Amino acid sequence: MAAGHLHIDLDAIAANWQALDRLSGPTVETGACVKADGYGLGADRVAHRLAEAGVRRFFVAVAEEGASLRAALGQGPEICVFSGHMMGDTALIRDARLTPLLNSIDQMLRHVEGLPGHPFGVQLDTGMNRLGMEPAEWAALRDVAEDQSPSMVMSHLACADEPAHPMNAQQLQAFLDMTRGLGCPLSLAATGGVLLGPALHFDITRPGIGLYGGLPFADARPVVRLDLPVIQIRELEPGETVGYGNAFTATRPSRIATVAAGYADGILRAGGPALRLWHGGTPCPVAGRVSMDLITVDVTDLPEMPEALSLLNPHQSVDTVADAAGTIGYEILTSLGARYARTYS
Ligand SMILES: *Cc1c(COP(=O)(O)O)cnc(C)c1O
Repeated sequence: MAAGHLHIDLDAIAANWQALDRLSGPTVETGACVKADGYGLGADRVAHRLAEAGVRRFFVAVAEEGASLRAALGQGPEICVFSGHMMGDTALIRDARLTPLLNSIDQMLRHVEGLPGHPFGVQLDTGMNRLGMEPAEWAALRDVAEDQSPSMVMSHLACADEPAHPMNAQQLQAFLDMTRGLGCPLSLAATGGVLLGPALHFDITRPGIGLYGGLPFADARPVVRLDLPVIQIRELEPGETVGYGNAFTATRPSRIATVAAGYADGILRAGGPALRLWHGGTPCPVAGRVSMDLITVDVTDLPEMPEALSLLNPHQSVDTVADAAGTIGYEILTSLGARYARTYS
């Protein structure tokens, strides 16, 4: 085995979906966000397992992702597209039976002219200023849209991972104001919103990161395990250095293991100094810089020569690795490299 080995626990993803589903009432439909190739873990495999677990509605970022998901899942589930109905997407949306979440008056016109009668949803901007119709646009369009029975009307929270943030209440109020009296399913909550409680749940939730074991879903079951094979091990005298820039200097007789993965595999170089690789329950510090294809690890304190060291495991989550590099678990997951041998269970 030359490349790293990434193991993805599909049962854990299904269990995390069930756990998030249980956090909302029995009348709330829990969807699943599988954009960016299922947060880097393989949208087809993930969505198949989630469909088995009971997911009826999936969310992706762009129509191309939706079309590839449709080919993998068949005709059953609804596939909603956050970027809405973009220019040039009409055939894709029609053929793959996608539900665009329309973001503007322009998109609404393109949709009803290009695909009259085809399902759609509406995305509202309640303050994040990223996607969705502004209150004035929506006021002008609401009656027309409602006549055509949108499959859902949704908005997205900017600060849901901070429960005490005043933005949550502000966006909730804006959403209530914009949807008052509307007779179609409503959706506001992603993972963070699900955890904030029933006032945010409405009819449909759209968790992503929590399914994949990431914060803010602290009770999630771990989903990924990443094991890196050791290519060679060498002994160092005190004073010898390791890697680019001589960034590590041995202060004692040391043993250094070189493992097969680097920043080209999504292990961010900035995270190196704070990263540990694990041998069973023992953490071993990275020695020197993370390079493109290789990481050097101080294994002096291990009682035996390791054949592999583990970067992601129950001891070290994607969020721990993200913290080391000053980023978030989402970025670590979606950066996981194409070189890894991937297995699923
Ligand atoms: C990515 C995304 C989600 C899922 O968010 P998580 O924080 O991963 O649960 C839901 N809705 C929208 C609009 C998104 O962009």
